[in-house]
Amino acid sequence: MDFVTLEPDDFAYGVSAEVVPGVNRIVAENPSKFTYRGTGTYIIGDTDVAVIDPGPALDSHRDALAAALTGRTVRAILVTHCHADHSPLAAWLRTESGAPTYAFGPHGAETAEWDIGMLPDDFGRLDLDVSANGTEAAPRESKVEESTDVGFVPDVELRSGDHVFATGPIDVTAIHTPGHTSNHTCFAMTSESAGRVLFTGDHVMGWSTTVVSPPDGDMAEYMNSLRTVAGRRDDVAIPTHGSPISNPSHFMGQLVDHRLERERQVLGAVRRGSSTIPKIVTDLYADVPIELHRPAAASVLGHLVKLLGDQLVAVDDDRGVSVFPRLDSTYRAV
Ligand SMILES: [Zn+2]
Repeated sequence: MDFVTLEPDDFAYGVSAEVVPGVNRIVAENPSKFTYRGTGTYIIGDTDVAVIDPGPALDSHRDALAAALTGRTVRAILVTHCHADHSPLAAWLRTESGAPTYAFGPHGAETAEWDIGMLPDDFGRLDLDVSANGTEAAPRESKVEESTDVGFVPDVELRSGDHVFATGPIDVTAIHTPGHTSNHTCFAMTSESAGRVLFTGDHVMGWSTTVVSPPDGDMAEYMNSLRTVAGRRDDVAIPTHGSPISNPSHFMGQLVDHRLERERQVLGAVRRGSSTIPKIVTDLYADVPIELHRPAAASVLGHLVKLLGDQLVAVDDDRGVSVFPRLDSTYRAV
């Protein structure tokens, strides 16, 4: 599928710019392989406002947000989920403004006994440090996703359909969309001038697929949540990373098809004898830059967990049948 909603040439960091009527965006200067050009923080409304995802703990972004909010009254701080590029400045903004924070909940309590294991140190790396005795000095990671703001606890815990903000003709409600994280929430805005707008956080992005990384990420839930938002009739979807997406239902339908195709490919690779996640990634992601192979491995684990649930794949480890699937497990088709 095509990812076409890239930033325009006049894009600039730290500048509050209107993206649709009644909604302004400030982009934080935290570009990366996970964040594209950076985190977009959204300000809804004119004098009484709601802020979606205040963003990363970055002085330049905090100052830009403070400047954009001068003369405005923050009524609500809305958080899509607790990755470190989304929620950390919520604590500062709450103190500054006195406005409550709203989210589905804190970051999910990851299944304590589910250790997702490790990828080989040299997998998906271009630039390994090699020490004098020839052994690798690269840091070992058990997580291949973005880091998490575990300290965030919302003042108001949301459920789907909850109204979170209204000003003039603008009304905003929450839609729980688990998958990228278990607490991920989209925010739906209606207004006369902008129509139906869906703020999609990291659930749907215009520039890339979303990482769905166990244990907190769940591919089966992600697919259900994608179908939920694809079935809406929104005029535009506005992700945290990248530009607005027009005709979002069509785009999200393509995303569902893309994930189903990837699932078929993962199952096909296992059936052809690729029994480990590094082998599957090397097989399926040959055209993807190598620095994305570690996050791809997390998504493959996500697909394998779903295929295990569908009883199309089994874990073939010595650890026994009760073990949770891991990045370093061996898999077979059933
Ligand atoms: Zn995220």
